[in-house]
Amino acid sequence: MDRVGFDAGVCRVCEGPCPAGFALCFCCRTAVRQLQLPLAPVVAITTYRVGDRTHRLLRGYKDAPVGEVRRRCVGALSALVERWMADNAGRLRERFGHPWSVVATVPSSCRPTGSPADAVATRVPDLARLHCALLVRGAGEVDHLVASRHGFELAPGIDPGWLRAQRVLVFDDSITTGARAQSAVAALRREGARVAGVLAVGRATAAHGPPAPLAPCSARRAAEPT
Ligand SMILES: [Zn+2]
Repeated sequence: MDRVGFDAGVCRVCEGPCPAGFALCFCCRTAVRQLQLPLAPVVAITTYRVGDRTHRLLRGYKDAPVGEVRRRCVGALSALVERWMADNAGRLRERFGHPWSVVATVPSSCRPTGSPADAVATRVPDLARLHCALLVRGAGEVDHLVASRHGFELAPGIDPGWLRAQRVLVFDDSITTGARAQSAVAALRREGARVAGVLAVGRATAAHGPPAPLAPCSARRAAEPT
């Protein structure tokens, strides 16, 4: 798996690159400071750069204007995740330390409702059989490098007593700074759920240093599959 700055060290949370002398990368240190909670371990199946094939799939599966193209992208991403999970189930359990009983996706922070990642999660048998739409958007702002305990909340109809007996795998399409995924983790923990970890399809390889000034959300969506 490609890692930018591999020789500088690996973040203990997200396995992205981080500078020597630090346990966590800049993005994860920022999320810890904002959430004031421990973060969940993150595993990314692959890495991507803007414009490469994985990036085009991660953009296309939810944004391609033609339905057939979206379906082909979903199929390619689902096949990638299914193959990876067949080969890496042991590594994933070892990294997370516990098995999981529920798979939840992260609601979009830039779309009014829903989680695009459901389209992939529901087509990968190992994820689909445990999939449950646990979360909806909350009142807190969540954005790149902006994490919030209140960015997500429990979906209507989810029994908090049932949730407290579950251990959740959080699944998302991509990790850029981790703020969205870790905000989802915080929301689940706030409701009493245990969280095994975060599994993402792709990790943006340029997201782990101190960031350049951020463009508005709508502009960034053109470049990043958030
Ligand atoms: Zn990190």
